[in-house]
Amino acid sequence: MQFPACLRFIFGKDLLWRKPSEAKSVYLTFDDGPVPHITAQVLALLAAEGVRATFFCVGQNVEKYPELFAEIKRQGHSVGNHTFNHLKGFRTRTENYLENIKKADKLIQSPLFRPPHGQITWRQIRAVRQNFRIIMWDIITCDYDRTLSPAAVLSNVKKYSRNGSIVVFHDSMKAQKNVLAALPAAIRFWKTEGYEFKVL
Ligand SMILES: [Zn+2]
Repeated sequence: MQFPACLRFIFGKDLLWRKPSEAKSVYLTFDDGPVPHITAQVLALLAAEGVRATFFCVGQNVEKYPELFAEIKRQGHSVGNHTFNHLKGFRTRTENYLENIKKADKLIQSPLFRPPHGQITWRQIRAVRQNFRIIMWDIITCDYDRTLSPAAVLSNVKKYSRNGSIVVFHDSMKAQKNVLAALPAAIRFWKTEGYEFKVL
């Protein structure tokens, strides 16, 4: 699934949806971890394929599983802030939203931020962009949707991939079945098509 072009336009240049399209590159991202077992399996799949990615981590998970978080970085992946409590921007006062990001930043220490659920208000954007690069996405795989099969997730990837695509997967319980089954095939697809994998 792609974010509608009209919405990308309205949100303007404060948010990054896609990297420049000259190079045949894709940017894999994994949200909501680290989660025991699942994150480790995603790391193993990426290592087996020699692919590096960017993990947008939830602060409370980093606090619970610091060794797993350290392992993500040790394996050469990039990390980003996804708030401490996976807050929905539209339902959270800006002061609380910023405080929550700050709390996560103490653990994650990254210049990258992705708003949970893609929800962020103008006021929040204006404040967050002073300290972070706000990263959205070009393709959301919907791996968290349990009504979708891994094949459907894969066909989503095949249909929408293009140069500079930022692709969202999840290393979460909800997405476990789809991400673990679809990721190896998706990586093979991108390799066959000649894409390089880059980190944000
Ligand atoms: Zn999330």
